[in-house]
Amino acid sequence: DTLINQIAAGEVVERPASVVKELVENALDAGARRVDIDLEEGGVRLIRIRDDGAGIEPSELPLAVSRHATSKIASLDDLEGVSTLGFRGEALPSIASVSRFALISRRKDAEHGASLEIEGGRIGTVTPKPHPQGTTVEVRDLFFNVPARRKFLKAERTELGHIEEWLRQLALARPDVELRVSHNGKPSRRWKGEGDLLSELRLHEALGEEFARQALHVDHSGAGLRLHGWIGQPAYNRASADQQYFYVNGRAVRDRSVAHAVKQAYADVLFHGRQPAYVLFLELDPRRVDVNVHPAKHEVRFRDARLIHDFVYRTLQAALAETRA
Ligand code: ADP
Ligand code: MG
Repeated sequence: DTLINQIAAGEVVERPASVVKELVENALDAGARRVDIDLEEGGVRLIRIRDDGAGIEPSELPLAVSRHATSKIASLDDLEGVSTLGFRGEALPSIASVSRFALISRRKDAEHGASLEIEGGRIGTVTPKPHPQGTTVEVRDLFFNVPARRKFLKAERTELGHIEEWLRQLALARPDVELRVSHNGKPSRRWKGEGDLLSELRLHEALGEEFARQALHVDHSGAGLRLHGWIGQPAYNRASADQQYFYVNGRAVRDRSVAHAVKQAYADVLFHGRQPAYVLFLELDPRRVDVNVHPAKHEVRFRDARLIHDFVYRTLQAALAETRA
């Protein structure tokens, strides 16, 4: 089983940032209002994520770190089901198979917490341990037992940069959650919980004063689609594609056809060759989009890609046209 988990880890765990992503998403799934992220050496030495979410029963700790039965493909007929159910239940076992791993948790009304340690996939026993309500996951020495993978990790700064970039992406979509980051024992970043979705303060914090000052607000609905967020004016267009954030139902996504639609809208106002900046949220019926194309879930497949392309294009074109009127 350790081997299967390590193979799965190859899909799910590419680098410390992918571990942070999986663990923070779990914290949010558990209803966390605040997440503390402690890192050492770019996350290679330590990633510790603590949340104030629902917590896990002591008796369910072993279940949380074993592969879920639902993630198994029993027959070819199940493949269609897998593409909608997703690759559920892979993250914790995968991460635990390639690190020194600990899961400590306490449910709301439980008297005490409990902890379960795993080293390179070898599961220990559940032991009582004090813990505030919520969950802590500790991942030490990522890939310590997979030297071939460890070799490909980059310098501390680079790995930290990937983590920070992902957190910025998340912070933009979830201004309701407080995020605190520390690196090598020093506080490095704090995103205060702002309450409402897409607060201008977060926009300002994430993309800077200059973007926030000139950005155009967009909010347009039609054909069961809603596109809202902020786009930079053509004059703000950049040399690199470093400020492009696109979300589908709250999840950060890379999509070629959408990226093309955005570029096209800007190309119409004659700023060829430079990169637009945007933070855009597309909301639609979840049945119209498949989010499980890849386990890391950066990609989606739209049922009506053409319609969405045109919707994005026309919405932005209209917003940009106003700047010239
Ligand atoms: P998935 O998120 O796809 O269910 P994971 O391997 O990421 O699979 O997590 C396994 C299970 O462990 C989750 O379904 C959840 O029940 C539990 N779990 C993981 N992290 C947390 C957390 N921070 N708080 C509460 N429960 C958690
Ligand atoms: Mg998960």
